[in-house]
Amino acid sequence: MTDQDDPGAGGAPRDAAAGRETGEGTRAVRAGLPEPLKYEPTMPGPVFAAHYHLPGPPTGPYTYGRDENPTWTHLERAIGELEAPGRSVETVVFASGMAAISAVALSQLRSGDVVVFPDDGYQALPLLHEQLRAYGVEVRTSPTGGNAQRKVLDGAKLLWIETPSNPGLDVCDVRALAREAHERGALVAVDNTLATPLGQRPLDLGADFSVASDTKGMTGHGDVLLGHVSIADAELAASVRRWRKIVGAIPGPMEAWLAHRSLATLQLRNDRQCATALTLAHALRERPEVSGLRYPGLPDDPSHRIASLQMRRYGSVVSFSLPDRDHAERFLDGLRLVDDATSFGGVRSTAERRGRWGGDAVPEGFIRFSVGAEDPEDLVADVLRALDALGFTGNRTAG
Ligand SMILES: *Cc1c(COP(=O)(O)O)cnc(C)c1O
Repeated sequence: MTDQDDPGAGGAPRDAAAGRETGEGTRAVRAGLPEPLKYEPTMPGPVFAAHYHLPGPPTGPYTYGRDENPTWTHLERAIGELEAPGRSVETVVFASGMAAISAVALSQLRSGDVVVFPDDGYQALPLLHEQLRAYGVEVRTSPTGGNAQRKVLDGAKLLWIETPSNPGLDVCDVRALAREAHERGALVAVDNTLATPLGQRPLDLGADFSVASDTKGMTGHGDVLLGHVSIADAELAASVRRWRKIVGAIPGPMEAWLAHRSLATLQLRNDRQCATALTLAHALRERPEVSGLRYPGLPDDPSHRIASLQMRRYGSVVSFSLPDRDHAERFLDGLRLVDDATSFGGVRSTAERRGRWGGDAVPEGFIRFSVGAEDPEDLVADVLRALDALGFTGNRTAG
């Protein structure tokens, strides 16, 4: 539902006296809160309802539980306020990031259309490619770095961008690519999972869809699966909302509520995790057994120049390679403060040998490291201790 449908939005205040936009921390803690109502909770609890009282014609915001839910409405408004402060955008929440991604692709693409996807993006994208091809859609792929997408844009209906890409952390220029895609009549979707809206605002950079897995840094506690799409254009928003109704990929009210609750600490978590990620990257670059270190916040990272033009924080993920699978596995075993687990963006650090899944084009010793909210000194000490324990005696590897 749009802000116009429901004038009750009490979140994201503007500092009226100063006429200025409030800061990100303020916006995060207040995002999506309803107007204060005496004796009502400041943040309403989850509404568990399959249906609503509905005498007479079936109109109005809440009719049936697959279509709308007040807990989603608060969360959707909250996410919208973070995705595009000061603008009216619509947000549609989904049961997972893949549900959100599929909703955009499958609601927009028809048989005969052309879509451009990254070839180094999230590992489940190839499943979607396969499905789209089966429906008669032409799927083209292109690497994320170097704006290589422009070479395959001709005739495309949709350009799909993932920046920074997971797990390689390459970055492309969203503004430039969105402009080119629009000139050629293509829509643009950005998977913003790694950055979160506090790191990057795709709609402000010209994208039509800002899509994310909120399972990751957005909710940040490793206990919720969720996704969302934020959209400025009302017609496109209606088509994505319609798709959710058709496939029913809806979040549970409890998940939606937990997600909204987590947004209040988004800025705190982001600030801590991104700062520690940079500290860890600096520590790793001194290590002889580490090669291929990537973090967009490192001034000499290949992604840094473009990232610094469009990102306000560089994310909580650092990636690097150890000499081989054995070194990587022993490193992960040796960590005490870091769980060997997939996913990223949570308050507890996780790391994994990405090659174990078989879906990404990465070396056997490739580690995707998600920096949590631990004390930076503790985390760096744990990592350095686990590296020391490898007893690496080889020469420093290039890269
Ligand atoms: C995890 C992830 C997804 C999928 O999200 P789910 O919530 O697991 O469905 C999509 N894109 C990126 C970049 C991801 O990291």
